[in-house]
Amino acid sequence: MKQQLKALFELQKLDLEITRINSAIASLDGALALRKQHAAAKKRSDATHQSFIDTEIQLKDRELELKTIDAKRADSEKKLYSGAIMSAKEVSGLEHQISHLKNQQNELDELVLGLYESVESLREQSKSEQIRVEELEQQVREAIAKEAIEKKRLQRELQQLAPQRESAAAEIRDKHLLTRYESIRKKTGGAAVARIMEHKCEGCHVAVTAFTIRNVFEGSGIEYCENCGRILVLETE
Ligand SMILES: [Zn+2]
Repeated sequence: MKQQLKALFELQKLDLEITRINSAIASLDGALALRKQHAAAKKRSDATHQSFIDTEIQLKDRELELKTIDAKRADSEKKLYSGAIMSAKEVSGLEHQISHLKNQQNELDELVLGLYESVESLREQSKSEQIRVEELEQQVREAIAKEAIEKKRLQRELQQLAPQRESAAAEIRDKHLLTRYESIRKKTGGAAVARIMEHKCEGCHVAVTAFTIRNVFEGSGIEYCENCGRILVLETE
């Protein structure tokens, strides 16, 4: 039995390694976190770019409006100072119109100035956000390429382990032992064989009785940890 348990422990080493490699492959998620980061940055950048365009349109509209008012005012002033004979009512009407246009002009001037500043700051913001998006794009590409290499490497390792595992399993002629091993492995999700380390089960760290330890030492049958159910072997194995 001792020899069989030793072989089983060797088999478990390979199985744990295979499990580790499989979960490493499963954890390769196509740079998900980076892709999420990129998507968020792209969304932000698109929104900023859109508001840059919208603000620029507003600015152009206001500038055009300003030009129109300017022309109107010049026209009215020209009329007023042309020396053409006008009634007092006409003069006061024109003066009133000119002052009204001046007020409008002042208001628009301020608005245009504010819009101009907004356009410039949005242009800068949009530029730096676009650069960030491109950086993240590059990072995603690199991470995915790296993952592909890593995946191939892990799959090669698995391929190499498969025949090793097969011959290690063939070493165990006690098929009952192998069946027990598989069913405990399913239950624990990891190791099915535990060494006795300092009178404790290596799997669950609960003390193993002296009686059990002696039985394991004598190697007459299979001994299980009373707490976790793992098959017990000696530390030296
Ligand atoms: Zn245990």
